[in-house]
Amino acid sequence: MARVRIRWGRLLGALVVLGLIAGGIKLLTAELSPAPAHARAAPKLDALPRVEVCWLEFSRSDVWGQMGTAGLTRTATWRNTASGLLVRHPKGEVLIDAGYSPNVLEETKGRPLLQRLFTKIALGGLRDASTATQALQRVGATPAGLKGFIASHAHQDHLGGMVELTQVPVWLPPEELELIRAHDEAVVLEQARAVEGRMTAMAFEPKPYETFDESFDFFGDGVLVVTKIPGHTPGSIATFVNLSPTKRLVHVGDTVNLTESIERRLPKSTVMQFFTDTDSGEAKAAVAKLSQLHELVPELHFLPAHDREAWKKFFGGTPGCVTAK
Ligand SMILES: [Zn+2]
Repeated sequence: MARVRIRWGRLLGALVVLGLIAGGIKLLTAELSPAPAHARAAPKLDALPRVEVCWLEFSRSDVWGQMGTAGLTRTATWRNTASGLLVRHPKGEVLIDAGYSPNVLEETKGRPLLQRLFTKIALGGLRDASTATQALQRVGATPAGLKGFIASHAHQDHLGGMVELTQVPVWLPPEELELIRAHDEAVVLEQARAVEGRMTAMAFEPKPYETFDESFDFFGDGVLVVTKIPGHTPGSIATFVNLSPTKRLVHVGDTVNLTESIERRLPKSTVMQFFTDTDSGEAKAAVAKLSQLHELVPELHFLPAHDREAWKKFFGGTPGCVTAK
């Protein structure tokens, strides 16, 4: 019987080449299909009250750019931030996102191994860390002065800080509220317990806003408007803050990590999708929708929760407050 000689060296070489080709194809074909055409409902912005919006930074880190987005990234280093927005409206101050809990390591002790590892790696690179209270104090605000808190979604690096702001009412879309109430594994148990009993479901109305069919207007005057972008979590939101007809931002949570993803219609990196998205198919559809909105409303400033460069651009370089000029 003839013996088949396997040339292991050649086989390995061929596998490496095939892997590189497959990886290359994946990088070059990452662009998503455009979102289905959608009419724009342009909001009325000519009678807004005087509002100030502040950038509160809880911590920052540097991450390899390719971790941020699928495709061949143009961002060599992803300047990562954990930040919140403080909206100062004549009717009260509202905080959007609160960073990590000061007790994050103890709170995540019982989590599955992979999640603990992911948290450890994320926390390991953090610098300039401060609590939500400290960040509020830097712009002359206090937890007691807050009218409400909005979480872009219920993950620990956005909701965690609420374990410290124990008196502040929490506003969430019904889907995210349910996630917390059900003690879903996407939410850290201690953080779910910390906000239970003070959560209110946002009353979304079938009122078109930009390219969305439903919206929730927090103050009822067009300053702070929320729409739904499910995928990263079931109740992930896009939060619009309008200072003037031309000074506008939309905070898009973790639906993308980098503004580049919106400009180039790219989903997050496969690793970030795997570890952080509840439904990556829905998340991709949300990215395509945001890209479409960006094309329709180029003056709208997109603020991915963790893209420090995007925050710097809107706020003029460093954490602090801006008004309409
Ligand atoms: Zn996040």
